[in-house]
Amino acid sequence: MRAYIPDYQLTTPTTLAETLALLASEPGLWKPFAGGTDLMVLLETGKLSHRNYVNIWHLDELRGIDSTLQHVTVGALTTYTDVQANTILRDEFPMLCQAASETGGLAIQNRGTLGGNIVNASPAADSPPAFLAYDAEIELTSAQGSRWLPYQGFHMGYKQMNMRADELLTRIRLTRSKQALKHYYRKVGTRKAQAISKVCFAATARASGHKIDEIRIALGSVAPIPLRCVRTEGVLRGQVVDQSLIETGKSELAREIVPIDDIRSTKDYRLRISENLLGDFLSSIAATS
Ligand SMILES: Cc1cc2nc3c(=O)[nH]c(=O)nc-3n(C[C@H](O)[C@H](O)[C@H](O)COP(=O)(O)OP(=O)(O)OC[C@H]3O[C@@H](n4cnc5c(N)ncnc54)[C@H](O)[C@@H]3O)c2cc1C
Repeated sequence: MRAYIPDYQLTTPTTLAETLALLASEPGLWKPFAGGTDLMVLLETGKLSHRNYVNIWHLDELRGIDSTLQHVTVGALTTYTDVQANTILRDEFPMLCQAASETGGLAIQNRGTLGGNIVNASPAADSPPAFLAYDAEIELTSAQGSRWLPYQGFHMGYKQMNMRADELLTRIRLTRSKQALKHYYRKVGTRKAQAISKVCFAATARASGHKIDEIRIALGSVAPIPLRCVRTEGVLRGQVVDQSLIETGKSELAREIVPIDDIRSTKDYRLRISENLLGDFLSSIAATS
């Protein structure tokens, strides 16, 4: 059932400072409203329990993609369309661009933001596995100042985050790699477009010959949070890729992820697909090195 609109309040401060002051005035009373693509679905279905929103869409401080020799820093209001149009992201962080191109349809890509995707904290969201595999950092800002933290560890449980009610996610920072990386991203859904992931797999690796020097693996839709698979990485790092290592990696991954049955898929299917994607990724390292 549709929500009763007069029950809701939306305010639009003109500056970041004003927004942060409002969030600090009564922490928890006001919640950010960015592109609204997650929030509007809840509103339309009468499931939007929170009543007071602060519109952040107009805050220029949260927009833009900047680069230095070491980093690419992306504003929280960067849309999926902005991501795909950026040449540095396309060249150096292709998994993020692939995630953006496979998120929703064009309307969602024009309006949905990376910050909203992260803070909405759906375990099935498509950009978080890419951010985890790129070892991204995030900036949280309150009226008291800003703090940077590794994105890994931000999600602490289902929809629970290391973030205070008076903080905004303001920027996401990606470290540019000086060495060639292998990037591997696969979204598995019911169909090619407008599908929520059954499994989302993102991984990067650096290899010398068939030996894996560095590896990072992250999955969506297989746990209550977007999951960086550090134990699986641990059994693979420093090893030479062969069939036996692939089987070892798959076994460890099966122990590390905790997929469930739900309306979109089954636990067994998610487990099998995750193992197969890891196998395909590892085989591709051996094939190209
Ligand atoms: C038809 C449709 C298809 C979709 N397809 C996909 C898909 O394929 N893959 C996918 O991952 N998602 C998908 N989504 C979900 C959604 O579009 C994304 O999660 C989007 O990135 C959310 O961004 P937003 O700016 O619209 O967030 P909003 O709806 O504005 O906010 C979402 C949540 O994040 C909080 N928030 C937003 N920005 C900030 C910030 N800067 N700091 C602190 N809190 C903040 C809000 O308070 C709210 O709790 C789809 C949605 C729809 C309606």
